[in-house]
Amino acid sequence: MIDIANKNDLYKANAHELLDSFAAKKVNPQDLLLSIIKRIKKVDSKIKAFVKVIEKPKIHLPKKKLSGIPVAIKDNICIQGLETTCCSKILKGFVPPYNATIIEKLEEEGAVIIGKTNMDEFAFGSSTENSCLGPTLNPWDTSRVSGGSSGGSAAAVASEQAILSLGSDTGGSIRQPAAFCGVVGMKPTYGRVSRYGLIAFASSLDQIGPFAKDTQDLALLLSVISGYDERDSTSVNNPVPDYTKSLINNVKGLKIGIPKEYFFTDSGSGKDGIEPDVKQAILEAKKVFSDLGAELIEVSLPHTKYAVSVYYILATAEASSNLARFDAVQYGHRTKNLDNNADESIIVQMYKRSRQEGFGDEAKRRIMLGTFVLSSGYYDAYYLQASKVRTLIRQDFLKAFEDCDLLIAPTTPTTAFKVGEKIDDPLKMYLSDIFTISVNLAGIPALSLPCGFDSQNLPIGLQIIGKPFDEETILRTAFTFERNTPWHLKKPTL
Ligand code: GLN
Repeated sequence: MIDIANKNDLYKANAHELLDSFAAKKVNPQDLLLSIIKRIKKVDSKIKAFVKVIEKPKIHLPKKKLSGIPVAIKDNICIQGLETTCCSKILKGFVPPYNATIIEKLEEEGAVIIGKTNMDEFAFGSSTENSCLGPTLNPWDTSRVSGGSSGGSAAAVASEQAILSLGSDTGGSIRQPAAFCGVVGMKPTYGRVSRYGLIAFASSLDQIGPFAKDTQDLALLLSVISGYDERDSTSVNNPVPDYTKSLINNVKGLKIGIPKEYFFTDSGSGKDGIEPDVKQAILEAKKVFSDLGAELIEVSLPHTKYAVSVYYILATAEASSNLARFDAVQYGHRTKNLDNNADESIIVQMYKRSRQEGFGDEAKRRIMLGTFVLSSGYYDAYYLQASKVRTLIRQDFLKAFEDCDLLIAPTTPTTAFKVGEKIDDPLKMYLSDIFTISVNLAGIPALSLPCGFDSQNLPIGLQIIGKPFDEETILRTAFTFERNTPWHLKKPTL
């Protein structure tokens, strides 16, 4: 249990410790909330994780799974009555008339929603620099990015401004910022968590998932948000296990696959595809598992080299179609710049100019690319072809899982990069997701957890990838790793 001598320090605790302390009546949710709000006031001007803080949230007292626990929500998840903009100008002023399913689930279990977090516009990006409100900075080094697109949610937990948070992951947007910020983050199996009320980026890839300070908290939050929802036709009606029951400190006999394609050498430069410190940390993680009695085997995912291309065809195609609804009639920003004497009709001008003014550069880039790959002359060559390769990528994983129970890999090729370093080079930015994207294309679950620090004291993430709907084995493996390593205990100084 936590030290409660100083109630101001409650923000430092984990959810499971706090729930125990609430039950033992040592502290109460109100004290925790005060401590969190103070913390936000003290540090968020440096980090900018939140785009909105709810200072007087609803606190429900009945003893439920998350009663009294402050949770921060990515700004692409609808909360009734609260402005939700995906950090895009085009959605300025949009107030959802309904709650996302996961918001209802959180409220039913007593969670305290404390605010909305910053993100790349419409979740397009890997650094949160594409937010119309400016970037979220990395709590370990504020000259660096927090990762993206769920940078705000990752940084909020890492800087101890929220006990838990939620993000969304289309190509790595939970795992990559979790790795950069030194917290645990998970993308569940596609269909495990309802997407109802998540503003869509690429509907066949998007999945909501949890961030936490440790695996135990993550399992708790995952149990609450998972489950079938008739309002999301892609949600799957499989029973939801109590994920906290899978937390067993034992990997003896577990077969862990190492995908050899993830340890590639760049054919142009001859250099390793992964930074040396990241590679070293992953090799050490391998050793931790083999010392604990797991069996490590090399596996092959031969279509890995196509993943980034396939993703940027399919994801932009879906995004261009999903963003068509922002027409300045139904929601958000509408231009004032209309010209009665122009050649174009007022309605065409309104649509064009509102979109020109409302979308940022990356959104425009994706709309153009996505529209191109879907256009009649190119559909077969790009979209259809990419869909076929996507199937091969999924089959690679299913085949690898015939020989092993799960896979481990780096989450990212580097640690957190500097603000501004990649923003003018979209291709470089797109490559930061090289190890996370395949998992979304395959629809399978994966988690990132801290596994070391580089020479500049920046966190490194270990990715654990599981079979469809086998979140439990991932959680057990992550829990065992945590119990046998110190990495998740280190905190940034702010
Ligand atoms: N960085 C990837 C992209 O820009 C993934 C984003 C995400 O998962 N939402 O599309």
